[in-house]
Amino acid sequence: MAFVIPQQPAPALPVAGGGDLFPVRRIYCVGRNYAAHAREMGSDPSREPPFFFCKPADAVVAVPPGECIEWPYAMATSSLHHEVELVLAVGRGGENIPVEQALSHVWGYAVGLDMTRRDLQGQMKEQGRPWEIGKAFDRSAPMSPVVPAGAVAHPERGGIWLDVNGVRRQQGDLADMIWSAAEVISRLSGWFRLEPGDLIMTGTPEGVGAMKVGDLIEAGVEGIGTLRLKVT
Ligand code: MN
Repeated sequence: MAFVIPQQPAPALPVAGGGDLFPVRRIYCVGRNYAAHAREMGSDPSREPPFFFCKPADAVVAVPPGECIEWPYAMATSSLHHEVELVLAVGRGGENIPVEQALSHVWGYAVGLDMTRRDLQGQMKEQGRPWEIGKAFDRSAPMSPVVPAGAVAHPERGGIWLDVNGVRRQQGDLADMIWSAAEVISRLSGWFRLEPGDLIMTGTPEGVGAMKVGDLIEAGVEGIGTLRLKVT
């Protein structure tokens, strides 16, 4: 049997330190997982259950290590925000995963940007409509290579940061996540069966802000990696 139209290439991220690839199945994202960011978005950062949204797998943009890629400014927005996040790369599937076993499902970690059309997201919030046009647009998930969990252990603390044109805009610590990586996996797997290849973006610390054409964005998570892009 032949495909009747061209089959799209499977999205993938390179694995750090070698020529291997991590195939991407789905991208799940956690909303408001750092208290100070919840506050800056006008929400109560109390420990209410985490909520999730998705980006399509082909929103992923692989940023090669040490390189600065050109990232085109998104269409249909005048308020394009950066959100730096720790990304969990799921290597083993499951549903209703207990917190104590959750990290054994993580194959590796990456640094990702949850790019957001904040104006459109805000309009959708106001109207009680889905967030897709604000969150799930083309190229909305640039990411670093995936570092195998065996190489870094499972990070529970460590700096997470983002610079725009050399000026620090976002600065936090993984220890400040309201819901830990293990808790996020446990909760998410109660809504969806996780499968190998799923990526989970775990939320952003405070300091989100708008980008403009020409900006140099540099971001990283201590011990995991960095990524660099120029908004064109
Ligand atoms: Mn986010």
